[in-house]
Amino acid sequence: MYGSDSDGLQAARAQLVSYSARLLDDGLAVGSAGNMSVRIGDRVAITPSGISYAEMRPEDICLVGMDGAELQSSETPSSETPMHLAIYAAAKAEAEVGAVVHTHSPEVIALSAGRDELPAIHYAITGLGGPVRVAPYVRFGSSGLAAAAVTALDGRSAVILRNHGAVTYGRDLAQAYDRALLLEWLARTYRLALSYGEPAILSAAELDEVTAESRRRRYGERRSGGP
Ligand SMILES: [Zn+2]
Repeated sequence: MYGSDSDGLQAARAQLVSYSARLLDDGLAVGSAGNMSVRIGDRVAITPSGISYAEMRPEDICLVGMDGAELQSSETPSSETPMHLAIYAAAKAEAEVGAVVHTHSPEVIALSAGRDELPAIHYAITGLGGPVRVAPYVRFGSSGLAAAAVTALDGRSAVILRNHGAVTYGRDLAQAYDRALLLEWLARTYRLALSYGEPAILSAAELDEVTAESRRRRYGERRSGGP
């Protein structure tokens, strides 16, 4: 979480630039594709449209209100700003959605062309809330795409956008980005599993058991880590 003062904004801008460079290095996007944002109180810092990640500077990061009004931007905010804002607005708990990452990563795009869902090929998918839905195709930058993404995110922290890419969110940029990497890894693993024939998929009960055990262990860590 970032403070809503100018220090918080500066930190958010610097972090958005460094994670944008990672998008290229990690193969989650090419050129200036994809975009990411962080929430700072009632404002959102978001990557600009059409600037290559290699050239992006902290001062290029745009600042918009939750209604989309441009507050402090020398550049044009990402064309997917409506989708980012819709995801923040739909958050059931504000603290859970502090950052949004949108990628154009190849494994999820390939999967989206042939499947309606990324199934539970590995138990790590519980980190995204369970099997990840593929939202129907709607043109980039549209309010229809924003609505489709929000609907498919119900109970999940990740969604795959058909013939387009993926969106993940997290309490901060590090978590949202880690989830984007996890999603791409799961899609790749599923594709590899398909090469052996019809793969075994974990059941809802097996996933529930993993979620319960993860919670129990986190609780144990907090207890032993206390004074
Ligand atoms: Zn996109």
